[in-house]
Amino acid sequence: FNELDQASAYVGGSWDAVRGLLGGKGANLFEMYRIGLPVPPFFTVTTEACNAYLASGEKFPEGMWEQELDALHKIEEASGKKFGDPSNPLLVSCRSGAKFSMPGMMDTVLNIGLNDETVQGMIKLTNNPRFVYDSYRRLIMMFGAVVLGLPDEAFEEPMEAFKHQKGAKADTDLTAEDLKELSEIFKKVVRENKGFDFPQDPIEQLRLATEAVFKSWNGKRAIDYRRAEGIPDNLGTAVNIVTMVFGNMGWDSGTGVAFTRNPSTGERKVFGEYLLNAQGEDVVAGIRNTDPIEKMAETLPEAYNEFMKICEILEKHYRDMQDMEFTIERGKLWMLQTRNGKRTAKAAIKIAVDMANEGLISKEEAVMRVSTKQVDAMLHPQFDENARKAAKKEGRLFATGVNASPGAAVGQVFFDADTAEKKGKEEGLQVIMVRPFTKPDDVHGMLAAKGILTSEGGATSHAAVVARQFGVPCVVGASAIRIDLEKRQMKVGDVVVKEGDWISLDGATGEVFLGKLDLTVPNLEEQQDLLTLLNWADEIARLQVWANADYPKDARRARSYGAKGIGLCRTEHMFFEPERLPIVQRMILAETIEERKKALDELLPFQRSDFEGLFEAMDGYPVIIRLIDPPLHEFMPDEEKLFEEVITMRVKGETKGLAEKEKLLASIRAMHESNPMMGLRGVRLSIYMPEIVEMQVRAIFEAAANCTLRGVKVKPEVMIPLTGTVKELEWIQPRLERIAKQVMSEKGVNFPYKFGTMIEIPRAAVTAGEIARLAEFFSFGTNDLTQMTFGYSRDDAERNFLIKYVEEGILEKNPFQTLDREGVGRLMRMAVEEGRRTRPELEVGICGEHGGDPDSIEFCHLIGQNYVSCSPFRVPVARLAAAQAAI
Ligand code: ADP
Ligand code: MG
Ligand code: MG
Repeated sequence: FNELDQASAYVGGSWDAVRGLLGGKGANLFEMYRIGLPVPPFFTVTTEACNAYLASGEKFPEGMWEQELDALHKIEEASGKKFGDPSNPLLVSCRSGAKFSMPGMMDTVLNIGLNDETVQGMIKLTNNPRFVYDSYRRLIMMFGAVVLGLPDEAFEEPMEAFKHQKGAKADTDLTAEDLKELSEIFKKVVRENKGFDFPQDPIEQLRLATEAVFKSWNGKRAIDYRRAEGIPDNLGTAVNIVTMVFGNMGWDSGTGVAFTRNPSTGERKVFGEYLLNAQGEDVVAGIRNTDPIEKMAETLPEAYNEFMKICEILEKHYRDMQDMEFTIERGKLWMLQTRNGKRTAKAAIKIAVDMANEGLISKEEAVMRVSTKQVDAMLHPQFDENARKAAKKEGRLFATGVNASPGAAVGQVFFDADTAEKKGKEEGLQVIMVRPFTKPDDVHGMLAAKGILTSEGGATSHAAVVARQFGVPCVVGASAIRIDLEKRQMKVGDVVVKEGDWISLDGATGEVFLGKLDLTVPNLEEQQDLLTLLNWADEIARLQVWANADYPKDARRARSYGAKGIGLCRTEHMFFEPERLPIVQRMILAETIEERKKALDELLPFQRSDFEGLFEAMDGYPVIIRLIDPPLHEFMPDEEKLFEEVITMRVKGETKGLAEKEKLLASIRAMHESNPMMGLRGVRLSIYMPEIVEMQVRAIFEAAANCTLRGVKVKPEVMIPLTGTVKELEWIQPRLERIAKQVMSEKGVNFPYKFGTMIEIPRAAVTAGEIARLAEFFSFGTNDLTQMTFGYSRDDAERNFLIKYVEEGILEKNPFQTLDREGVGRLMRMAVEEGRRTRPELEVGICGEHGGDPDSIEFCHLIGQNYVSCSPFRVPVARLAAAQAAI
């Protein structure tokens, strides 16, 4: 297509479909052209053509080539030049561009149309032989690598040797004569490696380049990238044929890349770099040292001012931060690309909040612009400030470079992508991948690394872009480092780091330390933009976020992260504390009710004070306390160990204490169940041995009463676990409610409270209408509910067949991580509906692991739950997910 309207009409008008057809790069080039920005004449071969080509065993679909030549004529007219015409040759680039940007993943060839004849024409026209030969040698090099599949080294090595021979340090030191010689050397490289000559026919060059871009869709690095990003394989890439503009025509020409805002910090200021007298790929490859974009205000002021205006126009137009490529040819600015820029988590949050405050986007859009992964990243560990200072004092600061992708990483150094992948993925080591610079075929190693370090390149180099995208901490351009790939070591001065040595790098400051540095968890309260965003999320969400917390300190953290209640407090954890466990064991082994009650009386004050701490921490918010759940043997000494002790004593003939041990062993054996997780636990245990839960309920209500007397607002909710039939509730709940009432009247206080149950046995979900007669709230225990609905033992399944099931596509995802909507979810939906039919005000939540998983949270929203409850650390993520579910 030459025109946007044509393409848009062809796919029915939606922007998404246009992007699908023309690829992101093509669609945005058209869009920039449409709004009047300077884009060189171009046309786009569609993704449809690519897919047809690949599907038919690499044949152009019928009519495509003719259409491509037609389109070429149109850009000839627009540019006033002719492809292959020695007197006024048109040169073009052939650029890949898929629907979703895959930076550096696909191949591009520049300067197509040059050959021995058109070179002469260009020289006459430009009077600049140096520039023309520079362009020519670049064409042969890129064509050789991308289209003919020669390794980069085939050209790089002779070029280095040549530069050395000519005494040239930088590429720009080479003269026109030198470059002419170099293009001859490159032609020879092609001939020697391929057995044929570099194609002189421009049309042949165009055809081969188009095919190469098509084929690059199925190249290894493109496939790796798609896997990592979850991009479907069937989209195909478009091919953009763009009139060449030249940044290498002299010192009034240049090329650069820039973001409308800072992609690392989010600061509202154009951020980028440029190079004078260079062609596009020089900047991205990080081969020459670039200048910051601000400097262009001095060197090329007019182009700079125009570019700043364009940045504003583009940001307003797309309503998002843009990542742009431009070239200046003899002072004239040309736009070559724009797209929504990749950014760090920190920048994503700041930009979303700023843009909403600037009125550019709505709060809802701001909330949608940040991913739950990014929020998660903001709460990840960073280096402890004291550890950092100490390390500096000790002289362990190895080097500093550009802070390319934030986050702290500690790991062992490996110097190539394959080893990094092997050590990281297969051997499970913490890997820091170190390279002079990275290329697209290093991506697999970068993905397996905890951190990336390069000695060359800037903030928009390949390493930096990829690292930011995947949230891998990264430092680039640490130029003090000398990397010796042969000896497999790197050096700064005399300090040597060998392969396998530990280093710590900070992608937010650009610092690299020797050895391991301590990490700390960042403080949410100091992250103003994130707090603002999460407050907006709370305004938008219908679903509340509560937390699972067993101790007051967890409750306080949960509250500071924005939890609006405790959805699960597991009381049994309190039984395990060293001073309490012997009492618990005494209680369990008691032979009479009196003995048991005596032990329980001793436990009561402990529990009461635990609960008081929780109520205080959650002042004003509901706190759900689950009555004892696990089988009792979990509180007893290990059977096998005890048995061994008894045997040893017998063998050694020791008698002191033997009788007690034997008795204990006998009791533990008597408690043995062949399937304890389906045995005497939960409400069954409460009915079998009601004294324990009676004590717990008394402790809960005494604590609540004491807190109320101190002016704390309490909302206790008592949760009965593992209910399977309403009859269980009918048996136990009234006894417990009696105690609750009794305590309130003893203490002379009144406060709201609820009794409810977990829904974690399929039968409970199916008979939820009945259960809701007694239960005032439901909380889905989706770990057990998933386990029992599938009939998979959770502790074992994840170790063996589940992974295979996911690989084989029998299960789409691990159902213990992401809620199974069709099965388990259907039970949940039914339980909510039937429960609310019986009791319209029924409060429904979830307290299983799924409560912190964004996909599962969306489902909880859809079935009308009141809240999700998750671990305190997941609360911010869940708040965002709850809002996104509501938009
Ligand atoms: P990538 O997706 O790897 O960035 P591009 O197709 O954008 O690949 O091109 C690679 C480099 O070549 C970029 O710096 C781009 O700006 C430059 N470039 C592409 N087409 C042209 C052109 N017609 N004139 C000048 N430079 C170009
Ligand atoms: Mg590009
Ligand atoms: Mg359970």
